[in-house]
Amino acid sequence: MEIIAAEVAQCVRCGELAETRTQTVFGVGNPHARLVFLGEAPGADEDQQGIPFVGRAGQLLTKIIEACTLSRNDVYILNILKCRPPGNRNPLPVEAANCREYLNRQLAAIKPQYICCLGSVAAQNLLETDTTIGRLRGKFHEYQGIKVLCTYHPAYLLRNPPAKRMVWDDMQILMGEMGIDLPAK
Ligand code: URA
Repeated sequence: MEIIAAEVAQCVRCGELAETRTQTVFGVGNPHARLVFLGEAPGADEDQQGIPFVGRAGQLLTKIIEACTLSRNDVYILNILKCRPPGNRNPLPVEAANCREYLNRQLAAIKPQYICCLGSVAAQNLLETDTTIGRLRGKFHEYQGIKVLCTYHPAYLLRNPPAKRMVWDDMQILMGEMGIDLPAK
């Protein structure tokens, strides 16, 4: 993992992102985690701190993880893109393609059993599909032998709190498959 992290820190594959970032945001958590949470790209807070999911959406993700009776140290958290897109625009397809090698090598090192995709950018990029997040969520998909569960992005939940119910339903599906008992909610 350190070798990949050192390469990422030096990466200039995407000229615009390399020029505008404060630093790269590699990933955080247990490098032997059974479960990986996959987001889209760093935002302003992540770009400043160098750690994924530390802003408002990140704090909500931490709450979701804790509601699953886990902690951020039990799982691994990373993004499709390791650099912040200027103005938080969506990743360009060429940027996701440039960064894909790093994601695949991280997953090969971690060897998780489960990936939880947060939002449509993560889900559609990982699974290489145009299917909407509303249709992808709620059931398992497969990526290189890893079981993939997609759900809404925590930033979407901040704008649309009623959708928290559906994310909780998805977490129950995921935890049930992982053999982790959850309190009724
Ligand atoms: N949103 C993401 O998708 N990833 C982060 O790291 C932070 C916010």
